[in-house]
Amino acid sequence: MKHLYCRLFSHDFIVKNEITKFVKEYQCLRCGIQSTTSDTGELIPLTDKRREINKVLKKLYNKRRKIKQKAY
Ligand SMILES: [Zn+2]
Repeated sequence: MKHLYCRLFSHDFIVKNEITKFVKEYQCLRCGIQSTTSDTGELIPLTDKRREINKVLKKLYNKRRKIKQKAY
């Protein structure tokens, strides 16, 4: 039933993990499906490969942010 609702309407996503300012990982409150932001800004399924990419992306993003803060 829960899945059917998501299929008929849309997923009720909440942000689970903020990777960068633009890329986030989402989870549906109803069916638990996970999504992330693609390179083109669309929502795509969060696969293991994507999760790895996001992990690296987050590390780079945090590092860059720290450098910026130091320089400031
Ligand atoms: Zn859903």
